[in-house]
Amino acid sequence: MHFKQFTAIITTALLLAGCGNAAENAGAEQTASMSETVSEQASEPVTESDGAVSQEIFAMDTYMVVKAYGDRAKDAVTAAVTEIQRLDALLSTGSEDSEVSVLNRAGGGSLSTDTETLIERSLQLYEDTDGAFDLSIYPVMELWGFTDDSFAVPDTVELHDTLALVDASKVTLNTEEHTVSYGTDGMKIDLGGIAKGYTSARVSEIFKSYGVESGLLNLGGNVQAIGAKTDGSSWNVAITNTDEDGYLGVLKIEDQAVITSGGYERYFEEDGVRYHHIIDPATGYPADNGVISSSIISSDGMLADGLSTSLYVMGLDDAIAYWQDHSEEFDFVLEDESGDLYITEGIAEAFSSDLNVTIVKKE
Ligand code: ADP
Ligand code: MG
Repeated sequence: MHFKQFTAIITTALLLAGCGNAAENAGAEQTASMSETVSEQASEPVTESDGAVSQEIFAMDTYMVVKAYGDRAKDAVTAAVTEIQRLDALLSTGSEDSEVSVLNRAGGGSLSTDTETLIERSLQLYEDTDGAFDLSIYPVMELWGFTDDSFAVPDTVELHDTLALVDASKVTLNTEEHTVSYGTDGMKIDLGGIAKGYTSARVSEIFKSYGVESGLLNLGGNVQAIGAKTDGSSWNVAITNTDEDGYLGVLKIEDQAVITSGGYERYFEEDGVRYHHIIDPATGYPADNGVISSSIISSDGMLADGLSTSLYVMGLDDAIAYWQDHSEEFDFVLEDESGDLYITEGIAEAFSSDLNVTIVKKE
């Protein structure tokens, strides 16, 4: 499963450097070169033939590529990798020493600026999405074994009891004291639904502070463009398909994040049924509301990440209604169970696909 997961991630973030839609060959090249060169840690920065400085890194349980152009590109890339490693250490639920693990053991405590920001945005999303996004989902993630690969379908009574611990409305954030407290013993939080979006936003800021006007981040399938390509044209980003060799379409972006959630990115199978890692807080089961892939396009990376998870949970009708209320903030590409795509009108010109596409309008 790990290899499957790996190829899916790379395909998600397939970045098409050329113009037009010559996607097939670029995909094969990207997959091949990545699997040969990525190690478990960060590699060295590499200068590419077009002057880009790039570096590959394994962090946050996924493969990442950071790439920048400009006079100070190498320093910018080095600073970006340092920042990714810092945030990984801070937020990883898998590490006992992380800030999140310390908070989870104590049921709350003092917050760093980063964690406070992430919790604040998560609680806001909980409100805005009617609970589809719930940062307190972690006990259920543990019960399903997603946190340590001990996958198993839980007993229904145990699931019911554990789900009682999932309730973000009980999490109290104090932005003056910079503390958080969980309302109930046994509650735990997990910022995995937005951490990569936050990381991409932080790295964008770092790039800009180094004068980088053109760059691209690929954090395990979550893409963030800094500016445009050096020739002034847009970046072409392929959005993956559940079929590992395919993709849903190609999107032209500048200065935006494209963040995808899909049940195929992390899952296990039991008795022929597939169980994935995006949980519907209403049921405690993997979300099964008709959306099988959810990509959010926004200049706000953290919002894009939170909403990619949320819209996947909501299902198509609620996702469309949500967008109609928030159409200034983001666009989406959603795939339903029959493989049809729904995209919002804001990206109608920028997105191309061979699949059946319905354009969702504001009214
Ligand atoms: P990925 O981690 O594959 O990029 P997502 O951004 O959709 O995908 O995040 C999934 C992660 O978010 C899960 O691994 C879990 O940590 C967390 N999560 C799962 N379900 C929810 C939910 N309903 N609300 C908030 N976070 C969730
Ligand atoms: Mg997400």
